[in-house]
Amino acid sequence: MYGAVGAHRSPHTDLAKADPVEKGQPPLWRAALFGLCPGCGARSLFEDLAQMPQNCATCGLDFGGGSAGNRRAAFGPLLAAAVLIVIALLLDLLWQPPLWFQLLLWVPLTMASIIYAVRLARAAGVYARAASMVGTHPKDSENDQDS
Ligand SMILES: [Zn+2]
Repeated sequence: MYGAVGAHRSPHTDLAKADPVEKGQPPLWRAALFGLCPGCGARSLFEDLAQMPQNCATCGLDFGGGSAGNRRAAFGPLLAAAVLIVIALLLDLLWQPPLWFQLLLWVPLTMASIIYAVRLARAAGVYARAASMVGTHPKDSENDQDS
């Protein structure tokens, strides 16, 4: 890839500058967290907590109302809940925190995780849809650049 320079690259480095192929396209985790459009980077991916509009209000990219990620969106919260249950059981087994602490920790954490899981799944659907519209998958263009 970029040899020793790439190995020492900070996680805070703006990858869009280093990779001209994906210029302007925010990473998936950021797009899901902040609702960034994969086409223009505007905060237009979600109009609600996890509700997706048909198109980007800024660049007009077709989101399909999040339908491409709906199948994944059904499994995202299940996976997140399974992970949280395992962590909760381990925490209770090892530390046995008081009930008020459990409520304070798990109620907001569970809600945030479920919402983020749905947003992540829907954003992944839009990314896959955008990649198929261009005709190349982001991984493919990455390989082309290396050769
Ligand atoms: Zn856009």
